[in-house]
Amino acid sequence: MSTPTQSPIQIRRKLIAGNWKMNKTAADGAALTKEIVEQVGRETAVDTVVCPPFTALESVRHVLEGQAVKLGAQNMHAEKNGAFTGEISAEMLRAHYVTHVILGHSERRQYFGETDALVNKKVLAALANELRPILCVGETLAEREGGKTLEVVKTQTEAALAGVKPEQITSVIIAYEPVWAIGTGKVATTAQAQEVHAFIRSLLTALYGAALAQKVRILYGGSMKPANAPELLAQPDIDGGLIGGASLEAKSFVDLVKAAMAAS
Ligand code: PEP
Repeated sequence: MSTPTQSPIQIRRKLIAGNWKMNKTAADGAALTKEIVEQVGRETAVDTVVCPPFTALESVRHVLEGQAVKLGAQNMHAEKNGAFTGEISAEMLRAHYVTHVILGHSERRQYFGETDALVNKKVLAALANELRPILCVGETLAEREGGKTLEVVKTQTEAALAGVKPEQITSVIIAYEPVWAIGTGKVATTAQAQEVHAFIRSLLTALYGAALAQKVRILYGGSMKPANAPELLAQPDIDGGLIGGASLEAKSFVDLVKAAMAAS
């Protein structure tokens, strides 16, 4: 009997990551996580990550002990330590058993002046500390309307990955997040999202070759909800979601994990 060839979709395990942003105290975060793990805690067909604020990492970590759901942070500083008041290093995150870190989120770029060069430093520091970066890229509404989407995504992706070695690239997760779709209820159409995801994969192919590019997960982020997720997750280059609003309630987040399971 011949062995069936593996499709690219099967190579990449779907991933659903919740970005809680500046929401949830340590106690609220633990309670939400408890509800999530009760329903998907041992699910391994889909990778699930929750990214609480720094102050809830410890309480959430305790709830995640022995579960398949992983712990992520929402940001980190690129330096190891030193006089950087208010900042948190990769080493500090590792000490809390953090495995993933969101980097270059559009809110960090917009409100905290993060540049492509800074995001690149953070990506390299995360990888050096065995943290998986969830690298966010995406265009603003003005850039989309100006026909600049692919150019912006190319610049951000290539800049952020400068110096990332081939053996490190499959630890990087890229999140395509059109800025105009974040928290607005305006979701990109599946065609718009798939076009950019395929484009990002073509950039990865040019940088690292097809075999590695096929292994990198590219998430969609921007008003993803249980209602629109199945269609998005069915696209060949959409490997999961980075979820803001819908990650703040157990039901909607668990429904998104279930949608990813169904699409796997
Ligand atoms: C986000 O901020 O990463 C995000 C995708 O938010 P929302 O799902 O609320 O649009």
